[in-house]
Amino acid sequence: MTTVAEPQTSFQEPSFLEQVNKNFDKAAALTKHPEGLLKQIKACNSVYHMKFPVQLDNGEIEVIEAWRAEHSHHKLPGKGGIRFAANVTEDEVMALAALMSYKCAIVDVPFGGSKGGVKIARHKYSEPELQRLTRRYAYELIRKNFIGPSIDVPAPDYGTGPKEMAWILDTYLAMKGDDMNAYGCVTGKPVSQGGVRGRTEATGLGVFYGIREACQHTEEMKKLGLSNGIDGKRVVVQGLGNVGYHSAKFLQEAGAIIVGIAEYDGSLYDSKGIDIEKLMSYRKETGKTQGFPGAEGYEDPSQALEFECDILVPAALENQITRINAPNIKAKIIAEGANGPTTALASEILLERGAYILPDMFLNAGGVTVSYFEWIKNLSHVRFGRMEKRFDQSMITNILKSVESITGKKFEQSLINKVATGADELDLVRSGLEETMIQAYNQIYESARTNKVDLRTAAFMNSIDKIAVSYKELGIFP
Ligand code: NAD
Repeated sequence: MTTVAEPQTSFQEPSFLEQVNKNFDKAAALTKHPEGLLKQIKACNSVYHMKFPVQLDNGEIEVIEAWRAEHSHHKLPGKGGIRFAANVTEDEVMALAALMSYKCAIVDVPFGGSKGGVKIARHKYSEPELQRLTRRYAYELIRKNFIGPSIDVPAPDYGTGPKEMAWILDTYLAMKGDDMNAYGCVTGKPVSQGGVRGRTEATGLGVFYGIREACQHTEEMKKLGLSNGIDGKRVVVQGLGNVGYHSAKFLQEAGAIIVGIAEYDGSLYDSKGIDIEKLMSYRKETGKTQGFPGAEGYEDPSQALEFECDILVPAALENQITRINAPNIKAKIIAEGANGPTTALASEILLERGAYILPDMFLNAGGVTVSYFEWIKNLSHVRFGRMEKRFDQSMITNILKSVESITGKKFEQSLINKVATGADELDLVRSGLEETMIQAYNQIYESARTNKVDLRTAAFMNSIDKIAVSYKELGIFP
């Protein structure tokens, strides 16, 4: 008897939330925690689904649908970005909130996991309309106690940035101005509004640090047939937004060759390398990436995923690498800049053929790590480095002068200027981020080796262990 092959289009991969839970279950089965506790770790604690009116510029009223999900309260506040996208669903927001809980645990950031989503096609709204709807969303969160420096602290995500965070802050200040720590109600703010230097590029820089650390491990690189280091590696990046642009920029600065780019309007390929800064200027001028001089253009944005390369950085949205295109993906390293870019079935296909997947919940944790620094800055009411920069500078100068007087030899002034500097806020933030990503990679790498599992499963196991300890120590509230 012959079996009829199922048409590819009729097969529905599990939803984003089901995928996250599937990965959780795979890892949970390898831990020794009681079933009830595992169920609690997996459960989404609360979801606020709201609908609110916004007046458009033409006077009409539109009803906006939005969510805020608080996945885990094992640590407070909850933390997670706000997404503006036309296809936002409750399932997606809950999946992203769950990923935030696991992500924070992996990088030892003491927050629970949350996420927000507003179902809008951002480009259809004027700036005043966007401001009105962002403020109204913030107002709804305040009214229901779903935001606050000790409750739940949003940040930017797909379709939002510092501007929206400033509007949220201002709405919070208007309603809760007597809260001394009000500036800690949201992160990813402009620096002039209590933001921290280095937050804008943090996720992409974290992606870079994570890839760089992975590429330093000779054993893994040998298995992949790659040399150590970033220099000369051929990279494809999907999505030239906050995460994708900064990942590409830092990888290029470290010597990687960006051979491919995917954006909404199509894919670009150039074996000699695409200059990211030039491409960004071209995009700013023309409003598109297609037609960029020197690169071959392809109409299909997903074409780039299948380009020949060493490292593929999907940095757009979830469910981009599926069981349909996974067999055509040639990259040796899949570096997940976006949340959930690879479906569970696609992961299996890629792992089977020996690809190395750097999982989202580790690799894009740079954003929440620096958000944590911003929150600390807001609670301590002082800029990092303000107290010690000049003190450190004079200490190092004194040491150099002592060496000069002992040896009788003078240092070049240029050398003194280079060495005798105290760290400023950006130096401290970047150093904290680098340390976090290196530590986290080595933790999950060791766990993967010990348990003989892939990095994603190891990352889940580590975070489940950490959250379980937290719940056990806290006890269960009657
Ligand atoms: P963004 O809005 O700044 O950029 C996304 C980019 O992807 C846009 O330029 C968009 O045009 C492009 N894009 C959308 N669909 C595409 C497609 N099919 N093919 C090619 N390009 C496409 O968003 P972002 O903040 O960079 O977020 C990207 C991903 O990273 C999301 O999954 C988000 O959850 C995740 N993430 C973001 C942060 C952060 O700090 N911003 C932190 C952690 C994770």
